Amino acid sequence: MADIRDYKLLIGGEFVDAADGATFETTDPSTGEVVGRVAKGGREDMKRAITAARTAFDAGEWSEMPQAERSSRLSKLWELLQANVGVLSELEARDAGHTIRMANLFSVPLGIENLRAIAEASNTLGEYEPVPMVEFPAPAWGMVRREPYGVCAAITPWNFPFILMMWKVAPALATGNTIVVKPATYTPLSTAEFGRIVNESGLIPPGVLNVVPGAGGAAGEELASNPMVDKVGFTGSTEVGRRIMQLAAPTVKKVTLELGGKSANILLDDADLDVAVAGSLWATFLHSGQICHSGTRAFVPASMYDEVVARMVELAEGLKVGPSMDFESDMGPLVHRTQFDTVDRYVQIGLEEGAKLVTGGERVDVAGHDGGYFYKPTIFVDVDNKMRIAQEEIFGPVLSVIKYDSVEDAIRMANDSIYGLGGGVWSRDTGRAINVAKRMRTGTVWINDYHLISGFGPFGGYKQSGVGRELGTWGIREYQQTKFIHVDQTPRKDQKFWFQVLGL
Ligand code: NAD
Repeated sequence: MADIRDYKLLIGGEFVDAADGATFETTDPSTGEVVGRVAKGGREDMKRAITAARTAFDAGEWSEMPQAERSSRLSKLWELLQANVGVLSELEARDAGHTIRMANLFSVPLGIENLRAIAEASNTLGEYEPVPMVEFPAPAWGMVRREPYGVCAAITPWNFPFILMMWKVAPALATGNTIVVKPATYTPLSTAEFGRIVNESGLIPPGVLNVVPGAGGAAGEELASNPMVDKVGFTGSTEVGRRIMQLAAPTVKKVTLELGGKSANILLDDADLDVAVAGSLWATFLHSGQICHSGTRAFVPASMYDEVVARMVELAEGLKVGPSMDFESDMGPLVHRTQFDTVDRYVQIGLEEGAKLVTGGERVDVAGHDGGYFYKPTIFVDVDNKMRIAQEEIFGPVLSVIKYDSVEDAIRMANDSIYGLGGGVWSRDTGRAINVAKRMRTGTVWINDYHLISGFGPFGGYKQSGVGRELGTWGIREYQQTKFIHVDQTPRKDQKFWFQVLGL
């Protein structure tokens, strides 16, 4: 795929240009070359897409379709996507800088697998839930009905465009909503391609899925604030998450937010160091650290600090940083020049704060790829948890190794953060590790592993890392209203409670 991909907006089942004809280009972060030309949606286009989604919802073909049929169609879509793993992985590699190995083995197949899990789980949840009969204040029985919200918005970031789009689109569609998706401008291609696959499949009626790439300040703001949108699902920075809440507030929209992180990775003194040291680098350097829940703060007992650091440095220096399309690359580039500059600036901040740089901290020159944003895996030691490099999200391959004297200390420092998204504990004693996990104020804790996300479990953040959950039944419920239907059991008027209270 050396060609440049062209994509239009997907609105109401048709591929259309932006109202003002605007387009933008996306570039390959390994080379700086243009890989895509994409129609740039503005406020007018977003309004058109929201209207199309509203019309499709109100028409009822999708929203009132029996659950089994909706789930079955999404399962067919899952099959179709599997046949497209190759092209989607290549787009993720060339547009978002995923190594082709990661895209092929993880970032695309996991998104597709999550669709299957959500289609299946939605079909087992049932439309109604009984509520126990009550005698007071009057005999009645009731039931809860789950219903779609209506028009949903999905606003996604650049780091894992395909998966994070799927975490919103799959539950929204499975539960009968319609949706408008706005991918990040750096990395819109896999989402645009997904729109093309869905539209050509004919499995989903026109207007149920709309894809409108565009700038956050225009298309994004319209989507988060438009009165016709009922629910906003957002993944991105905490800063923009706060803005999304403000935009959604005047019309009191339901909002779920997956935001930033600065996750703690705690090595206990009984950890198997072969596993824990490599695992700590897996926690930090996957996708060059551009992952919201990366374990960028490693807490290491003082008694084994020097040994752990020496092993970390040796392993980090063995990682091969290279072009994303090279199957030999362990780490690809940073997504963009601005992200590269941010990472480099934080390395300077770390040095100024007095942390000691033991490896990395600079660009990697890759032959034939002068335009690429490659950065060395970077490790700071003697880091104080109060330093900015330990408190602020860098979103790059920078690990801070922090010494601790007691497990109490490690837990206290781990929780001393405005974030609470992920975390890790490494120990040979699972019971001990679970006790530490219980005390970490964070939405996910991995024990003796990291990053692996189950489509049947919830994912989301504590504190300023987010609101609500994605995936599993928890994620599905975020796309459903909860209606209570009360059925009275006092047929005669003189039995009625209101007869006694109000005398009617
Ligand atoms: P970002 O917040 O800059 O942008 C995210 C999305 O919001 C983009 O589509 C952007 O165009 C849009 N946007 C920007 N301003 C907007 C506005 N005013 N109104 C509406 N939409 C607007 O984030 P990013 O730089 O693309 O991604 C990196 C961030 O995402 C990191 O902070 C990372 O931690 C976070 N992230 C979180 C998770 C999670 O699950 N918690 C997962 C991945 C990334």
